[in-house]
Amino acid sequence: MTEIKSTCCYCGVGCGVLIATDGAQITGVRGDPEHLANAGKLCSKGSTLHLSAQPVIQRQVRALYPEIRTQKNLPRVRSDWDSTLNLMAEKFAETIRSHGPDSVGFYISGQLLTEDYYVFNKLAKGLIGTNNIDSNSRLCMSSAVAGYKQTLGADAPPCSYEDIDHAEVIFIAGSNTAFAHPVLYRRIEEARKNNPQLKVIVADPRRTDTARDADLHLAILPGTDVALFNGMLHLCLWEELTDAAFIAAHTEGFAELRQTVRDYTPAMVAQTCGIKEADLLQAARWFGGSAATLSLYCQGLNQSSSGTAKNAALINLHLATHQIGKPGAGPFSLTGQPNAMGGREVGGMANLMSAHRDLANAADRAEVAQYWGVDEVPAMPGKTAVELFEAVRAGQIRLLWIVCTNPAQSMPEQNLIREALQKADMVIVQEAYTTTATVPYADVLLPATTWGEKSGTVTNSERRISRVNAALAAPAETKHDWQIAALFAQKLALLLNKTKPDFAYETPEQIWNEHRDSTRGRDLDITGLSYALLEEQGPQQWPYPQGASAGKARLYEDHIFATPNGRARFVNTTYQVTADKVDPRHPFALTTGRLRDQWHGMSRTGTVPQLFAHAAEPVINMHPQDMQRRFLKNGDLVHVSNRRGTQIFAVSASDDLRVGQTFIGMHWGEEFLSGRGHGQHVAYGVNALMSPATDPVSRQPELKHAAVKIVKA
Ligand code: SF4
Repeated sequence: MTEIKSTCCYCGVGCGVLIATDGAQITGVRGDPEHLANAGKLCSKGSTLHLSAQPVIQRQVRALYPEIRTQKNLPRVRSDWDSTLNLMAEKFAETIRSHGPDSVGFYISGQLLTEDYYVFNKLAKGLIGTNNIDSNSRLCMSSAVAGYKQTLGADAPPCSYEDIDHAEVIFIAGSNTAFAHPVLYRRIEEARKNNPQLKVIVADPRRTDTARDADLHLAILPGTDVALFNGMLHLCLWEELTDAAFIAAHTEGFAELRQTVRDYTPAMVAQTCGIKEADLLQAARWFGGSAATLSLYCQGLNQSSSGTAKNAALINLHLATHQIGKPGAGPFSLTGQPNAMGGREVGGMANLMSAHRDLANAADRAEVAQYWGVDEVPAMPGKTAVELFEAVRAGQIRLLWIVCTNPAQSMPEQNLIREALQKADMVIVQEAYTTTATVPYADVLLPATTWGEKSGTVTNSERRISRVNAALAAPAETKHDWQIAALFAQKLALLLNKTKPDFAYETPEQIWNEHRDSTRGRDLDITGLSYALLEEQGPQQWPYPQGASAGKARLYEDHIFATPNGRARFVNTTYQVTADKVDPRHPFALTTGRLRDQWHGMSRTGTVPQLFAHAAEPVINMHPQDMQRRFLKNGDLVHVSNRRGTQIFAVSASDDLRVGQTFIGMHWGEEFLSGRGHGQHVAYGVNALMSPATDPVSRQPELKHAAVKIVKA
């Protein structure tokens, strides 16, 4: 038996794991005691990774051979790699020649490794010449990215996990950290044990496990975060908890914001947010009055039609009170997916470019084009996630290549997504699993390797780059994601008569080295790192330029921000209501979130029976008074409806929500909902009910809130 060092493939905590293998199969997994993200700890999901890799399960759920179909109404048949990639390359070449490069699109994933991301980005922007490549990270972190860029000047989380150990106040907003980032939550628990004075404030509409443990729970109404943060800033000004000298020396734009937050009086904010004025005052005093306040936040802020403003309003608070650039302080976004950060680093989204270069900047585009040896990188931003599927449905994008993600469950408004998937001339699905809701729409199925079989790197929430290593050979005819993209690119280049860019990669290390060299002089410079250093000295944080002996745990300690003039920027944020408004026809606010033991659409965690012990089936949580009024009892089936459709769930009483609010776990899709007697109702999972409305800056959809009606089935 040997043990291979790798990284957990689930959440953005990025825990190190040791994979035990006998060479034929994975026999066990344990936390890597040397990995700084988790020091040997794993949560229920990470500690059962080996169970999802058992051969008996793999045989049932894995995509193992390429498959193609020549007509939409025919079943796919097994093919071989060469003829499958030839077919695809011919179709792409013909479509690009006839309709231009923007007639094709890619929808990729924050679960890809950095090397995979890099090659797909180069394929789309360098070879084909389209920015129509977006990622499910659009559903995850794009509002956090936009918030950081607007205020601090760069997509760079300024904090580290070790700041939890130094904080005096931890402000958790829109995150059920206990469930979504469990190993990090253990660290918060330990910090509280070590420092009984440490205060934890949680802002969340539900009394989650995280909120239950808090010293102060602000049970705000869904979507009212900006009002809360502006109200806290109003009170910090009133209580003289802001730092005028820091604001004057290192920031700009405060006067306008100060004027705006005058209107966010305690009475107005308490009413808007549905909280007590005394609690608002307590939160402001703790936040602004502590020596070190650390904010942790996640999808409750990001998955919103005002997600960028929510992020910026929270960062405003940190800047005004000088809670940034010192141990234990700062705004710290928790990454949802294991490598949403790595994808941003290589620019693998519709509006980004390699190494945090700016797509709108001609000099940046020219640098990337020169680096890849191509004439140009197109200037026009590509379609972001929702826009991408709208363009497919409208016939503007004819070929869609989906990689390692399941939009037929995860995207909002499934009617749009499924119409688009039916409309496309060709849908290519590159997947490890045959069980996702998207696979039936595939005209071409490309079987990919998955965790335990592939190698590369990922970057976690605290900018720490970790190696991912294979413990097993690629099963059957599966190939690595980067390898599939590179093989295809070489075939397409021949058909397009292009000799550049180069895709002759043999190993992921070659790709990573190319990415690394593109970061020279950038804010995320990692030219001092190598695969060998990451193996020998363990995971490292960026920046780590050539000549450095360590990465940077904390950014902006010198108070010089990543803006052109070095000053942080206050954003004049104002509160906007949710896209869906509760009304007499749709009287319930529906919120969604992760459960403790499942991951995303359950293609992996759904194969492990133990992980159903915590939540066996999807339910809608309702307040007991709402159930009583509707003569509902636990276990009754209800229709949950709005103009986007109807889904059926069993109802379960919970007084962790206020009257009028409901909650459904995000994980169950049609595979897991089928066979439950849904009659003629289509069961796509809860996201089918969510609004496709997006944030105007980040284009992240509002997956956290919808207005619904609930009727007994
Ligand atoms: Fe994996 Fe996240 Fe659990 Fe760590 S906390 S073991 S990264 S799922």
